[in-house]
Amino acid sequence: MNIVATPYTPLFDIENLRKDFPILATKVHAKPLIYLDNGATAQKPKQVLDTIQNYYQISNANVHRGVHQLSQQATSLFDKARQTVQRHLNAAKQEEIIFTKGTTESLCLLAATFENTVIKKGDEIIISEMEHHSNIVPWQVLAEKVGAIIKVLPVNDAGEISIENFKKTINTKSKLLAITHVSNTLGSINPIQEMCNIAHQNNVLVVVDGAQAVPHMQVDVQQLDCDFYVYSGHKLFGPTGIGILYGKEILLNSLPPYQTGGGMIKTVSFAKTEYAELPQKFEAGTPNIEGAIGLASAIDYVNSIGFELIQRYEQDLLNYATAQLQVIERLKIIGTAQHKASVLSFVIEGLHPFDIGTILDQQGIAVRTGHHCTQPLMQRFGIPGTIRASFAFYNTFEEIDALTKGVNKAVKMLK
Ligand code: PMP
Repeated sequence: MNIVATPYTPLFDIENLRKDFPILATKVHAKPLIYLDNGATAQKPKQVLDTIQNYYQISNANVHRGVHQLSQQATSLFDKARQTVQRHLNAAKQEEIIFTKGTTESLCLLAATFENTVIKKGDEIIISEMEHHSNIVPWQVLAEKVGAIIKVLPVNDAGEISIENFKKTINTKSKLLAITHVSNTLGSINPIQEMCNIAHQNNVLVVVDGAQAVPHMQVDVQQLDCDFYVYSGHKLFGPTGIGILYGKEILLNSLPPYQTGGGMIKTVSFAKTEYAELPQKFEAGTPNIEGAIGLASAIDYVNSIGFELIQRYEQDLLNYATAQLQVIERLKIIGTAQHKASVLSFVIEGLHPFDIGTILDQQGIAVRTGHHCTQPLMQRFGIPGTIRASFAFYNTFEEIDALTKGVNKAVKMLK
């Protein structure tokens, strides 16, 4: 039996807003697309698509290199994009914003530049059991190189990290906490501000993987007081191939460059090279200009709705979906943390997530199935994978009804 929805007064004109996303009006297997795989990548509003097209049609040139008009125009758009990101994260300075390819590259940059600077032999790096592989493997590689140790914070059955455990794990050898803000598999929101506070009392630096947080909430890096914060543009309704590394200026200045070559130098001679100041020091080569400008446009777009509304609406979607799905026989929700973003993972006893996903796809419903690049977390829960529906502000209650119907149908078919 399904729980009946409470009558819902929309917080914004959802039908009108959906028109901004041309892909949402397309069909899959002759059925209207129901896109519930926003955790993997979000769809792009036409404002972002137009910005990118306009850039190539009107302003395309390389940045920082030319005195000519077009180059200055492109440079100005690129610089403005950085300022937009700075304001969005409330970073103290625009120099603290580095453009990268995405979350993965930002984390790899940090792990590479921490080698024998932040992390030395015998040091301890604390991560958690719910980390994405992108926030595990770079630290493992670093630990192996320098002889450091990885310590893992466990998650409880609800998918939460215990602050008490964190306090017990941290010690004088701890140098770094690398932790996700929001779990891509469980949806759990971690108490980052509190963890930063504890970490700093123990002289431990904090890297926050914000890939799944920025699409759902306003992030203020100064309020969190994290040392580094990373995310990918494509999950924030922007283009792929662009990401952000925020770092406190003093720390970024203390690290060596990551990649070298053009764009990141002050002077070069065969005897010696002097590196450029921040942020160019970490942006070797021609940057992803289109990506940066597209990301800024995406930030402007979400700001035009406002995260307060987005968060309230997505929580309503999450609560509704949870109520609808949890009454399905043999269905178990994985990730029932008290503080959750709009990510809903579940398994159905006796059925493989892949089979459910395939049947949903036949009905035009896009969900993610598998381990979600969190294999250690799957091992923790003793499951091969989950079915994950991840909601964005353009999803609707009707789409959740279709998901519920689709899962019921899959269960019957696979019996
Ligand atoms: N961390 C988390 C929590 C993620 O959800 C993802 C993407 N699934 C990543 C890191 C990696 O992001 P990207 O592939 O964009 O580099």
